[in-house]
Amino acid sequence: MTKPIPAPVKNPNLDVVCFDLDDTLWAVDPVIEAANAAMFAELGRLVPGFAKHFDAEQWPALRAEVCALHPTLVHSVTALRRQVISLMLERLGHQGEQAQAWLEQAFACFRQARNQVTLFADAEPMLQCLQKLGYCLGVFSNGNANLEAIGIAHYFDWVLSADQVGAAKPDAAAFAAIEQAAGCAAERILYVGDSYQHDVVGAAAAGMRSFWLNPQQLPCPARCQPDYQSQELAQLPSLISY
Ligand SMILES: [Mg+2]
Repeated sequence: MTKPIPAPVKNPNLDVVCFDLDDTLWAVDPVIEAANAAMFAELGRLVPGFAKHFDAEQWPALRAEVCALHPTLVHSVTALRRQVISLMLERLGHQGEQAQAWLEQAFACFRQARNQVTLFADAEPMLQCLQKLGYCLGVFSNGNANLEAIGIAHYFDWVLSADQVGAAKPDAAAFAAIEQAAGCAAERILYVGDSYQHDVVGAAAAGMRSFWLNPQQLPCPARCQPDYQSQELAQLPSLISY
């Protein structure tokens, strides 16, 4: 059961609430695992001999190999994934148009499954509450979820990704892009996320406030404290009221 959200008010010092997505609005690991499995199954179906040489267990090693070969792509999960697919196809002797067509089909299959997320029970009520209070809502994700496909795009005034910006959190460039999209001073922006390093430390370095979604109640290092933290999103609108 979701706890009822206590009556919150809009914080007069905050205009924009910007969200992380993965593990903040839904649990990401089961989704990526299922999407990866679907992608490997699709490649197995499409590409002769693929299943004999590759399976999803090899993914982390292949990804690490591509990261080392293409360090400039490290911020882009989409570009990296596409490169890994290319590498596997190349190793089977496939290049050119046919390989490109298989890559597109396999990536489309991944993308379809990647957006089959189950929102945390308190995510939508919390977003509706913030919207009603008059906050401007935004997104910056290091991942490649598609909010239109997930069905929650209508809550957000703008959506940014590391793929699109060319920098990932906690880089200053990622937070500079958030500030630009928000169109207000950094201190009037609250960044909400589950990662202490990416979300809390990154936001603080950029002069933003932070809300740490900390379901496991991990200890917070003293060097940088979040402005707010909770085990659940349901508490967010009331906690950030003051
Ligand atoms: Mg996250």
